[in-house]
Amino acid sequence: MLLFRLLLLFAMAFIAWRIHRLLTMPRVPGKERTQRLRGAEDMAECTLCALRVPRSQAIATGDRWYCCEDHWRQGERSRRSNDA
Ligand SMILES: [Zn+2]
Repeated sequence: MLLFRLLLLFAMAFIAWRIHRLLTMPRVPGKERTQRLRGAEDMAECTLCALRVPRSQAIATGDRWYCCEDHWRQGERSRRSNDA
């Protein structure tokens, strides 16, 4: 009977762990998920370093794209000094 109790305990722990996993899993919006599954998200090329990043993670200014905030700041700063 002890073995049965142990098995029951394991089963309950497993179920609790599964529920915990389900509740704590990051929620991905449906559209983003289908794009990720297809692997066909539009890519943007950074104006500064030419790194290609998904558009959802890139920063856009007009028709220029940047891979991160740092490059966005640098790019916009150098562009402004070029204009002046
Ligand atoms: Zn960049």
